[in-house]
Amino acid sequence: MASCGRTDSGHCKGSTSNGRSDDGANKDGGVNHVIQDSFKAADLMINLATSSKEKPDPNKLVFGTVFTDHMLAIEWSLVHGWQKPEIKPLQNLSLHPASSALHYGVELFEGMKAYRGEDDQIRLFRPRLNMDRMLRSTVRATLPTFDKEELLKCILKLVEVDKEWVPYSSSASLYIRPTFIGTEPSLGVKKPSKALLYVILSPVGPYFSSGSFSPVSLWADPKYVRAWRGGTGDCKMGGNYGSSIFAQYEAVDAGCQQVLWLYGDDHQITEVGTMNLFLHWINEAGDEELATPPLDGIILPGVTRQSILDLARKWGEFKVSERYLTMSDLVSALKDNRVKEMFGSGTACVVCPVSEILYKEENLHIPTMENGHKIASRCLQELTDIQYGRQQSDWVHLVS
Ligand SMILES: *Cc1c(COP(=O)(O)O)cnc(C)c1O
Repeated sequence: MASCGRTDSGHCKGSTSNGRSDDGANKDGGVNHVIQDSFKAADLMINLATSSKEKPDPNKLVFGTVFTDHMLAIEWSLVHGWQKPEIKPLQNLSLHPASSALHYGVELFEGMKAYRGEDDQIRLFRPRLNMDRMLRSTVRATLPTFDKEELLKCILKLVEVDKEWVPYSSSASLYIRPTFIGTEPSLGVKKPSKALLYVILSPVGPYFSSGSFSPVSLWADPKYVRAWRGGTGDCKMGGNYGSSIFAQYEAVDAGCQQVLWLYGDDHQITEVGTMNLFLHWINEAGDEELATPPLDGIILPGVTRQSILDLARKWGEFKVSERYLTMSDLVSALKDNRVKEMFGSGTACVVCPVSEILYKEENLHIPTMENGHKIASRCLQELTDIQYGRQQSDWVHLVS
């Protein structure tokens, strides 16, 4: 999700591709089933709003509170299949009160952004990774599958229709929230016979409002878990997030800003808030390493995570690993002065430095800031240069 702002605020069955099938042709994303039916972007019906709302000042935006003039909506039913996609004025939904999204959390979403470059071109960043992930979440949620390329084309059209809402700013952007809900109008716990896929757009301001990195403090307590083996933590499904809010408030009560999610008896470090986590350190073997936990089912396969791994492997300056990290690994490394920096990663902030972890009633200081947050800064620079078109890359997808 996108508010990693002090509370920013999810790998799924079939996600063997680790979300790496972007930028290419219409690959299957590791989901082994035939797409029998899909809506088509060529059938898009466009019903424009008669007036446009006033555009907000991008520097004063609170995440996810302002929405654009239009939305994309596509209905599905078992009887009629996919209906024609429609772009229409943003409006409330009308749902049967038994809808399965409301009762059983048959819901999933995505989070991506459109960026306006100084050349006035609007770009999406590796959107096929989001489409791959959304299709994996769809399969896990027993919602009907669709053709990812067709959805991407519909989203590009929606952004084009609302293009004036993409902030004229190199620190703000337009957040894109694809959402897919079961609208099964009965109380049976079963595959929905009706569903609604929709996309809404929200202009968002700079993540670090001060203009410079401010590090976060984390609350690490194994009493809550975000995800578990065999669960849905590797999918962006609503239930993962609704059930995390309580722990977030306990973190705040303890004087911390976000939750460091631990897992297992060995207190594995998994994610922070709704971000993936990176540790740059000298590992047990004495090698300089950038490490993040592996996609073993409890980690959300972030697009930013993948991009940081891709960049760091391209630099080729130190070891880059997807590996387990435990609290005791971290505590030993801190004692030996082997920790260089720790940061979260996600679409909202790109990267977010970590300065403190409250663990077993002890405050562990992480020297990210003192050490110059070098990897975080370099990732931020390189990724935003690509997103805003200052650096050519085949990771971006132009709107129109
Ligand atoms: C969305 C999300 C992330 C970050 O994914 P990006 O694709 O990089 O935005 C990380 N962890 C969780 C739990 C998430 O929901």
